[in-house]
Amino acid sequence: MRRRATSFTRHAAQLVLDLLLPPQCLTCDAAVEAQGQFCAKCFKATSFISTPCCVSCGLAFTHFGQAGPDQICLTCTGNPPPWGEARAAMSYNDQAKKILLPFKHAGRQEHASPLAAMMARAGPTLLARAEIIVPVPLHRTRLRERHYNQAALLAQELAKRRQARAIPDALIRAQPTPPLGSMTAAARAETVAHAFAVRPHRLAAINGQRILLVDDVMTSGATARACTDVLLDAGAASVDVLVAARVLDPRQT
Ligand SMILES: [Zn+2]
Ligand SMILES: [Zn+2]
Repeated sequence: MRRRATSFTRHAAQLVLDLLLPPQCLTCDAAVEAQGQFCAKCFKATSFISTPCCVSCGLAFTHFGQAGPDQICLTCTGNPPPWGEARAAMSYNDQAKKILLPFKHAGRQEHASPLAAMMARAGPTLLARAEIIVPVPLHRTRLRERHYNQAALLAQELAKRRQARAIPDALIRAQPTPPLGSMTAAARAETVAHAFAVRPHRLAAINGQRILLVDDVMTSGATARACTDVLLDAGAASVDVLVAARVLDPRQT
């Protein structure tokens, strides 16, 4: 009875809020039916990744010949990632930047819930088998500047949907890493190779568990590889990777 009353109160509060602040599209001023939605124009501009995509890294296949055997892209065939599977909700285009840059740099933490919903749709199997959800960590200097880790917000939202356990501080970024943008794939891998570690007091929670590693954006995958390696070294049973957006790295084509 109390739960029904609480739910009614929440529903009423949302109605009042919607009257005062009519729901707006996530990435423009257009009116939408409910908070956390795109308008039709922005929805159309969003490049959601559906199959066929690389089952190993989540890269959208855009033309025939990109897929090698078993729906694995040529990059993953040549250099298999250490994780099981990876999925991304969307390609990192100009529209994706409109939601992800404010989420990461401008305090728009409320984007975590709709982004997590898109990620859950992109990787339902990965989410269903996850026991522990772990975000890619920020170095403490950057965390102090930004006040929050956007990947941790996504991990917490995903955990709510799955009733899984998020451990936002499972990994530590022991060294600050420079922006990887202009580096070659080999330089990226070298830069992040020793940047991450599992926090000693989280080792027991990771051991033997199926982990879902979560981040906002994946580019070359160097960061996700480094995090996966330390989780597997710490005794994780398996690691899958789920991100909001996947950058098509020109070096990989
Ligand atoms: Zn819009
Ligand atoms: Zn791939």
